Amino acid sequence: MTDQPNHDPRSIVRRTQTPRSASHPIVTPLYPAVAYAADDADALDAQYEGSNFGYTYAREGHPNAQVLAGKIDYLEGVADGSPPGIITGSGMAAVSAALLGVLKSGNHVVAGDQLYGRSLRLLKEDMARFGISTTFVDPTDAAALRAAMRPETRMILLEVVSNPTLRVADMPAAAALARETGAILAVDNTFTTPRAYRPFEHGADIVIHSVTKLLAGHSDVTLGYVVARDPEIAGRIDTAGQTWGLTGSPFDCWLAERGLHSFELRFDRAQANAARLADALAETPGVKAVLYPGRSDHPDHNRAGSLVAPNFGNMLSFTLQGGRTEANAFVHAAEHIAFAPTLGDIGTTLSHPPSSSHRGMSEDERAAIGITEGFFRVSVGVENADQLIAEMTSAVRTATGHAA
Ligand SMILES: *Cc1c(COP(=O)(O)O)cnc(C)c1O
Repeated sequence: MTDQPNHDPRSIVRRTQTPRSASHPIVTPLYPAVAYAADDADALDAQYEGSNFGYTYAREGHPNAQVLAGKIDYLEGVADGSPPGIITGSGMAAVSAALLGVLKSGNHVVAGDQLYGRSLRLLKEDMARFGISTTFVDPTDAAALRAAMRPETRMILLEVVSNPTLRVADMPAAAALARETGAILAVDNTFTTPRAYRPFEHGADIVIHSVTKLLAGHSDVTLGYVVARDPEIAGRIDTAGQTWGLTGSPFDCWLAERGLHSFELRFDRAQANAARLADALAETPGVKAVLYPGRSDHPDHNRAGSLVAPNFGNMLSFTLQGGRTEANAFVHAAEHIAFAPTLGDIGTTLSHPPSSSHRGMSEDERAAIGITEGFFRVSVGVENADQLIAEMTSAVRTATGHAA
């Protein structure tokens, strides 16, 4: 017997209630509703005043965003009773919400000089238009971080591991500096993920994610997440998200929750694959250099050891001998590996920063950070490691004239 919804036969246009069931679905239902009906004006008042919880309008909150945010809160170690994170329509929307919620004209930001490209642009171009200035510094250099601070510095914005050179920021120095000066430390934890690094446990005030990447993990969702430790700051970021319209859609949240269920399994498998692939590439003729924080020849291996070990992540970069010709030949030879400018997919993806993320830089600027035409970034996936290693190393040999 089901409890049939109360169907009004006078109009098929009218909505019906969801059937009630003594049992409940084992999967979070998808709630595409834009608006939620309240019992009466008093009930609505109670909701807005916070004495009764209820959803009102999807841009201001909906069940799928709340469920997803709760799971990421858990991964990031957000304490019970602390402000929950919010879900945004993209990783960039999360960065934007953090900046718009916290900063005002006249403020200054100290930011990593190798942040995600759009974050660099947001600070350089857009925030500058609002009277917010930024100094970009090498975050592996504690003295440079300190030297960049000004009396009006309101925020330090860093990524723990840089893209695509995989340098590891001096997070303890940044946290000490933030504590000392009262600046807010915001950490974009997309590359590291809470599996490897939980910024709140290391003095961060704000944590940001592109959920699009490893957390959702299937390259079919664009979403972000931002959480702040301090209730007042969290409230301002939440308001900025709602007012500027940065929040995420129910269907994307629903898909991301599905992806997130397997996040830890995927991460562990992908990073085990990455460690093996890094070692295999380092032994392959035609490879000039491999960058993987878990390898002892990585410039920041010691710092990675203290910050993230044993979780050195799924990202590696390497440099092929030769120039654009060899780079193209490699992409053709590695025909079953997606050549696509994203990361964190369940399958391995390859990107070539000189022709994509770093094309806006001059050749000399790229060379200064070690990015030459042979430079590739690999987001390692969860496929069979032996097969992946065979594909990649044979493509390198073919492209560089070292075919076995
Ligand atoms: C991809 C990425 C972003 C932006 O995320 P979107 O979901 O693409 O908007 C921000 N920061 C880092 C480190 C990223 O990798």
